[in-house]
Amino acid sequence: MAIKRPSKSLGTPVRRPVTSPALRHVDVRAPNQMVPGELYLGWMCKNKACGRVIAIVPAQAADSPAAAASDDQLAALKCPHCGNEDLYRWSARGEHKYTVASTGA
Ligand SMILES: [Zn+2]
Repeated sequence: MAIKRPSKSLGTPVRRPVTSPALRHVDVRAPNQMVPGELYLGWMCKNKACGRVIAIVPAQAADSPAAAASDDQLAALKCPHCGNEDLYRWSARGEHKYTVASTGA
């Protein structure tokens, strides 16, 4: 027998607004806004020859809160260090240490 439960169960995920599959716009820090040795929220550059941190400008709070919920978006980012453009998964961002000039290995 089918029992209809009232829709008040805990653990129900908050309904998220449907976001467009369009690429997310992300502002990145300029190299001169970054301090070597500091941790920055962002991605490591996909360019192997670069590999430096592409840091997010912390302006996302100005967006609507819904923007933070859309973790599956891709962001087209241009590395401020080497100019390489690539797609980065928004949910894959993390804290990375900014390092400069890796002389050798
Ligand atoms: Zn780069």
